[in-house]
Amino acid sequence: MRVIVLLGPPGAGKGTLARELVRCADLAQFVTGDVLRDAIAHETTLGRKVREDVEAGRLVDDETVLALAREFLDSHPEGVLFDGFPRTLTQARGLSRMLRDDDELQVIYFETSEGTILSRLTARRVCLNCGRIYNMKFQPPGKDEVCDDCGQALVQRKDDTEEVIRERYRIYVEQTSPLVDFFRDKLIEVNGDQSVQEVFAILRDQLCRV
Ligand code: AMP
Repeated sequence: MRVIVLLGPPGAGKGTLARELVRCADLAQFVTGDVLRDAIAHETTLGRKVREDVEAGRLVDDETVLALAREFLDSHPEGVLFDGFPRTLTQARGLSRMLRDDDELQVIYFETSEGTILSRLTARRVCLNCGRIYNMKFQPPGKDEVCDDCGQALVQRKDDTEEVIRERYRIYVEQTSPLVDFFRDKLIEVNGDQSVQEVFAILRDQLCRV
């Protein structure tokens, strides 16, 4: 089985790249943040448990996230693209234990500056209906605040305010950046300050396989 992990700070372009990659590689996409936000919106038991942490920009506990990832991996033997997982060393070790020796793991690491992240995330809008991501400065929709693909109103995520973005970045540096060393021999490094189109052009040959 093939597994791709997108690793990098919030706002590095992981979600936008993931949308390109699932079109050219036969992989099921697992977006931890989307699964958690969906559970919150539907007020499920999981949603009620994680709401406070997600809205404050803190990480949800490892046990909860590992259980979600394991379930997804087990039900998608065709291969998985992980966006937003793993985010701690405990999660990374958990993922390694879930994989078999003949599974192929590629980790794409987006090295991205804090300035880029802040300017991207404060201008980010998302379509809750189809998941398309926009940037009001660099990639605005054709019509103000409405999704080009499905016509739904775009929204700003609650955790895309400057204060919460800074907290998410601090947590990334503290808890997630050690994964760069953990996955050193699986790493494909890209410059996340570039546009996602430039990143995709660089990665296309290496990753697009059906
Ligand atoms: P994201 O959409 O990837 O920026 O994730 C939004 C929020 O969901 C994060 O700030 C965390 O609160 C939570 N979250 C997403 N992925 C994880 C993870 N792997 N471990 C713990 N919390 C997570």
